[in-house]
Amino acid sequence: MKILDGKVVAHHWKKKLQQQLLQWKDKGITPTLAIILAGEDKPSVMYTHFMKKVAIEYGFNLNVYKEENITEKQLITLIHTLNETKEITGILMMMPLPKSIDAQKVIQHINPDKDIDGLTTVNLGRLLNKEVGHIPCTPRAVMAILSFYDIELTGKNVVVLGRSTVVGKPISILLEEKNATVTVCHSHTKNLPEITCQADILVSAIGKPHLVNRDMVKPGAIVIDVGINQLRGKTVGDVDFEDVSSVVSAITPVPGGVGSVTTTMVVDGIVKAIAMQTT
Ligand code: NAD
Repeated sequence: MKILDGKVVAHHWKKKLQQQLLQWKDKGITPTLAIILAGEDKPSVMYTHFMKKVAIEYGFNLNVYKEENITEKQLITLIHTLNETKEITGILMMMPLPKSIDAQKVIQHINPDKDIDGLTTVNLGRLLNKEVGHIPCTPRAVMAILSFYDIELTGKNVVVLGRSTVVGKPISILLEEKNATVTVCHSHTKNLPEITCQADILVSAIGKPHLVNRDMVKPGAIVIDVGINQLRGKTVGDVDFEDVSSVVSAITPVPGGVGSVTTTMVVDGIVKAIAMQTT
């Protein structure tokens, strides 16, 4: 059984991205990422903290807008200000937003060229039409892992668990573009194990700790675990790693799998955003 190590993939991308950022620096451009932290979601606070280290490591500026009691109207005004500020290259809005704010409505105010996580309708449309744009970072991380480990997708049966706009749906689009036959399952899917056992590659993006066990995977399958969950004080994926590891041919660990590459894709999104805004 092979471990598909996200840290190795991230390291592979790092040099290239640092070089690209240096090239922009030589032209007098140091990008700035704006992170909007509305509310007090703990994982979002932790991720923002982590991004501060990433910014130093890669050499870009990070502005954090920590807005604890912000209203929907104030948030939209902040986004417009960031859109209009030339120095701001990209905007990353931490999710989930407080319940009082309509996330879908607010997201649409982000300038699509600064929308690093590709959440605006414009960017999702660009993805569907194969136009240049920002693509959600986690789905891109999944594709980067599959590509780094030379995992063939053409003609493969891929089952994606989860259909969210930010993870499951874009993953299924990207996989289909690589000629995989994609089946998307969700909370209303019946006979889940029957479907998942058909998968040459199983991608799980559900958010339920250890839901996927050995009875749900085909022997020799490749498993990509996107889930990040807490179980008895530990961070675990959707897949019961111990249980399936003797059955599968390759698997991403949690932590150290998809999550490690997602951050790299955020940096790649920043590099892409500079190009979109300077040409
Ligand atoms: P979400 O709650 O928006 O979507 C979950 C999806 O799973 C839904 O489409 C739902 O229909 C489906 N689902 C729920 N129960 C199911 C079941 N029993 N069987 C089949 N499908 C079921 O979550 P999300 O934002 O898409 O995130 C999914 C997971 O990925 C979470 O654990 C999240 O923490 C993680 N995540 C990881 C990264 C990363 O970088 N690794 C980034 C974003 C999200």
